Amino acid sequence: MFTSIYPFTQETIAEYPAHTKEQIESRLQEGWKAFAALRQAGTAQRAAWMMRVAELLKNNVTEHGTLISREMGKTLKEAKAEVLKCATTAEYYAANIDAMLQPRLITTEGKKSYAAFEPKGIILAIMPWNFPYWQVFRFAIPNLLAGNAAVLKHASNVSGCGLAIEKVFREAGFPEGAFQALLVSSKKMEPIIADPRIQGVTLTGSTPAGMSVAGLAGKYIKKTVLELGGSDPFIVLKDANLAEAAKTAVKARMQNAGQSCIAAKRWIVEQPVAEDFIQQVQSIITSLRQGDPFLPDTDTGPMARPDLADEVSKQMNQSIARGAQLLAGGEQDGCNFIPALLTGVQPGMSAFDEETFGPLAAVITANDEASAIRLANQTPFGLGASLWTKDLEKAARLATLIDSGNVFVNAMVRSDARLPFGGVKQSGYGRELSIEGTHEFLNIKTVYIQ
Ligand code: NDP
Repeated sequence: MFTSIYPFTQETIAEYPAHTKEQIESRLQEGWKAFAALRQAGTAQRAAWMMRVAELLKNNVTEHGTLISREMGKTLKEAKAEVLKCATTAEYYAANIDAMLQPRLITTEGKKSYAAFEPKGIILAIMPWNFPYWQVFRFAIPNLLAGNAAVLKHASNVSGCGLAIEKVFREAGFPEGAFQALLVSSKKMEPIIADPRIQGVTLTGSTPAGMSVAGLAGKYIKKTVLELGGSDPFIVLKDANLAEAAKTAVKARMQNAGQSCIAAKRWIVEQPVAEDFIQQVQSIITSLRQGDPFLPDTDTGPMARPDLADEVSKQMNQSIARGAQLLAGGEQDGCNFIPALLTGVQPGMSAFDEETFGPLAAVITANDEASAIRLANQTPFGLGASLWTKDLEKAARLATLIDSGNVFVNAMVRSDARLPFGGVKQSGYGRELSIEGTHEFLNIKTVYIQ
């Protein structure tokens, strides 16, 4: 049984029985039939269905947003924005998929040679609860448009979202079984990953989940894309626009109650501007309203589960015990965690060494630019980085020195359908979105004609 609990009040809102072995088998059969139907349909038809997906999401944005807020606690404003982002991404891909799938002609001594991009079968997505629509749609949109079918094992606390997404694809006209949610425990994934109809596995979640799933996928020779955690640096150099940097740092850390892989988790600030920066962010953080996700003036909702809030409290307290100072927030009551600001954070403290998945900001002071970059790279993760300076030539030079999958200059890191998204080191491998993400689960078939 999967239980959905409204984080703000801890009330149980729904229970979903797990699928039996037979139900899973029948869903894989449906998925395999749908794969044939999707291939047959061609890109223009698939794009038409996807445009209908966008329309259904836009028409029912409040209903979908409410479900998200009820299951994982983000504010309704954030939840509706997430649903609309899925809709615009569906429209973007519907317009661009044809160009992305065009064979790449390659000159050889043959009459014609090219790389074609063909679908492979059913792709399994194992997805988290923090962006329960966006993480799913950003995988599903390009894959369904390219002709793959999809099954989703969603996080156990957001089963309702998984089933609602399945309904959107069905109502949009996609063939029965093209996208299906599997209500299955993470401990029972091996036979599904092993199934020959499953031709790839994408996972967004923690590093331990990635290790376990990639291990199984390796055993059965299934390609994986892993989008794991991050401890993104937000580097503020002494020539940065400080007011803009401070405002963006708070947004990039606190949105979604800090539960984002690309949140700005470590604010690395050059010493001459550190005091000024701290004053500015402290004033913004103390003005944030934490609480009821359905009130229009709430800035951050509760965290998704009490154990996640307990973990952030533990990381904060360990950092304080090692010498960090708490300048704002940090009170916890169940899932509710008041946005907090730590200064004097250094390597050796949890707020520096680990991923902090909640509304906890950490300021690290760097002596100079070189030490800022060294500190930025002093992490097992490598997802995103944000760099603040008015000198754009310097920014381009420093961007090459940062070990991450994304560097955003004078802007917060974000995922965007037009830009490839993914990490290095323990943040995972492979890419989502853009043309690179679209090709991950396709058969890149070489055709050579003599
Ligand atoms: P998990 O990584 O455990 O969960 C993410 C997804 O993976 C869920 O669908 C989960 O299913 C599934 N999963 C977990 N373990 C396995 C496994 N062995 N085999 C197959 N599927 C598995 O994240 P948590 O919810 O426990 O969060 C813990 C931490 O992970 C966070 O504090 C954060 O640091 C990180 N995280 C990072 C995310 C990101 O966006 N990169 C997103 C979410 C978490 P089930 O729910 O059924 O266990």
